Amino acid sequence: AMTSATPKLEYRELGNTGLKLSCVGFGASPLGNVFGGVTGEEANAAVREAFRLGINFFDTSPYYGGTLSEKVLGNALKALGVPRNEYVVATKCGRYKEEGFNFSADRVTRSIDESLERLQLEYVDILYCHDIEFGSLDQIVKETIPALQKIKEAGKTRFIGITGLPLHIYTYVLDRVPPGSLDVILSYCHYCINDSTLEDIIPYLKSKGVGIVNASPLAMGLLTESGPPEWHPASSELKSACQAAATYCKEKGKSIAKLAMQYSLLNKEMTSVLVGMKSVKQVEENVAAATELAASGIDEATLAEVEAILKPVKNQSWPSGIQQS
Ligand code: NAD
Repeated sequence: AMTSATPKLEYRELGNTGLKLSCVGFGASPLGNVFGGVTGEEANAAVREAFRLGINFFDTSPYYGGTLSEKVLGNALKALGVPRNEYVVATKCGRYKEEGFNFSADRVTRSIDESLERLQLEYVDILYCHDIEFGSLDQIVKETIPALQKIKEAGKTRFIGITGLPLHIYTYVLDRVPPGSLDVILSYCHYCINDSTLEDIIPYLKSKGVGIVNASPLAMGLLTESGPPEWHPASSELKSACQAAATYCKEKGKSIAKLAMQYSLLNKEMTSVLVGMKSVKQVEENVAAATELAASGIDEATLAEVEAILKPVKNQSWPSGIQQS
């Protein structure tokens, strides 16, 4: 009898951590309602479907929805009713909706306890300093990372890392901390069809032994049919170029989101492509993008057309953090 093999998600190792992450990771910022309202049932269903389809990596922060994302994700993970070691949870510290930024040792040390309580977990797998370009990088090096290392020694997180938009923050920090201090970096909006600059620092990051998580393959909604949310920081030039690319795909009967997921997934140096999801439908589409890519490759012709449309804005980013002249 014919058996049709169920396509499986690929798992990739994260730097030297020994963690094996699904190549598609679940970004839980939408569970904090940052991309429009989501009910508890929708969130639970999305997380359940993600886990059922092989997604084992879930990313949140106390910042997303002012702690809402952590609570909703915690409930959804608990509702799965599976052993804790079957999923990987990352959260962050130092950035808060009400308080703003605070990367002091005291604040981040309290922060992890608050996060664990909201997530209803004994430990997280990864704790990042969230958007460090908004703090003093020297404080991150001298005070915050040592505080995170103590949190790690206390068993409240297995691994530690940093996140942020400008790529120079990674070299600045990694050049100044003892080797092996950091386990992982999370970069966003720098390895998607319109911006591939993260690729340039891969050899450097590998030489430092850090694992790489690539977030926002859809450029926070720029590379979707419905477009980005109101708060999106891109220039109007970048927004309209992405809209033109989305329209091109739609007219050809193609999905720009699928193409964008597949583009990011093709680079295997980046362990997991963290995509923000809020519905079962989005989970199914993004997992299908990965399994179809593994089975039949990317649509080269459409990708070439989309890249041509985006060429005038290629690698255009936006300011983030405390600007230095
Ligand atoms: P993204 O590029 O993943 O885009 C998310 C948007 O695309 C949402 O509106 C979502 O509803 C929509 N979407 C998802 N799948 C879709 C599909 N198949 N078709 C159409 N639309 C779809 O941007 P993001 O959510 O900002 O980034 C992913 C995750 O990475 C975040 O949720 C967060 O966990 C993490 N992240 C971290 C940082 C940081 O630490 N500084 C920054 C950005 C993102």
